[in-house]
Amino acid sequence: MTVFHTADFDAHEQVCFFADADSGLRAIIAVHWQGPGLAGGGIRMWPYADEQKAITDALRLSRAMTYKFALADIAIGGGKTVVIGDSRTEKTPALLRTLGRAVDSLGGRYICGPDVGTTPEDMVLIGETTTHVRGRPGESGDTSPATGYGVFQALRAAVRQRLGRQDLDGLKVAVQGAGAVGAALCRHLHEAGAQIIIADIDAAAVARAEQAYGAIAMAPQQILTAEADVLAPCALGAVLNDESIPAIRAAVICGGANNQLAEDRHGDVLAERGILYVPDYVANAGGAINASAEGPDYDADRAWQRVGRIYDTCGQIFARAEADGIPASRAADRMAAERIGRL
Ligand code: NAD
Repeated sequence: MTVFHTADFDAHEQVCFFADADSGLRAIIAVHWQGPGLAGGGIRMWPYADEQKAITDALRLSRAMTYKFALADIAIGGGKTVVIGDSRTEKTPALLRTLGRAVDSLGGRYICGPDVGTTPEDMVLIGETTTHVRGRPGESGDTSPATGYGVFQALRAAVRQRLGRQDLDGLKVAVQGAGAVGAALCRHLHEAGAQIIIADIDAAAVARAEQAYGAIAMAPQQILTAEADVLAPCALGAVLNDESIPAIRAAVICGGANNQLAEDRHGDVLAERGILYVPDYVANAGGAINASAEGPDYDADRAWQRVGRIYDTCGQIFARAEADGIPASRAADRMAAERIGRL
């Protein structure tokens, strides 16, 4: 098991390991960059096949949080917690309270929230043992509507850039995953007149998208190579890899899933194929932007306007990519690293 020598170690400021025999907790908290005061990022609970995969996820996801906040002009750094385990069977109140104590031991350097495998309700239990938690019900709550709206704005910007179109009328968009973010994206696409092709391993989620948004269902194993103008990965990470990329037919890739590139170099491979890939942490920043506006002065209209600025951020990234002669994924990384003073 390695940390410092993995390809994904990027001078992370702190990587902490927590284990507790009584509750069964095994967790890693990675603080990539503390920024001007603290790092923020969600708690992912996943049955990782081995510990190295959990470390890799913590390193990659925490860096993505730093970059997400940097490009969204939010003055905090990035962190992430990964919990090794199956959230359906192993997530107990005792485990969550123990995890809260782990978060608390960082003394406010890191603030947690929900992510894959954890819910706003789980944050209530975590909040019993630490105050460094956000995203409880009644706070920013469900982040997926804002995330879906941000993906939609990024998609519009990419379609304009790559296909020279200002509108989405009749545009074919293949959406992988009809979950919270995928469904929110479908709603905006449908309102904009796009044709939606949908795939999900959950038949009920597919049926909802068919009914509500006139989506056409496709088998999950075919969606990445669907004949479409845009591919929107909204389910899993690492879907853009050596195997999938040669067969992708869309000219634009823009979705809400985290860690879509199996490795950073796959951004280069996509650009070589003439496919415009919108970096995931830019496209899916809407939920984080909305949650960061949380507080007594929260104004939903103002927060959503900020989410809408993802459209302009994408424009800046595409311009930088052209100016520097690099793929959009590299341009975004470069701009983010510059903003946090690491380049
Ligand atoms: P979700 O669990 O609500 O939805 C994911 C959907 O993907 C589910 O319906 C699931 O059945 C489906 N799925 C799983 N495997 C699949 C496969 N092989 N093919 C097709 N569909 C498959 O989760 P979500 O909140 O919509 O998040 C989706 C992605 O977006 C995740 O990668 C998450 O990390 C990322 N993300 C979410 C948010 C947010 O605000 N929820 C913010 C940023 C990033």
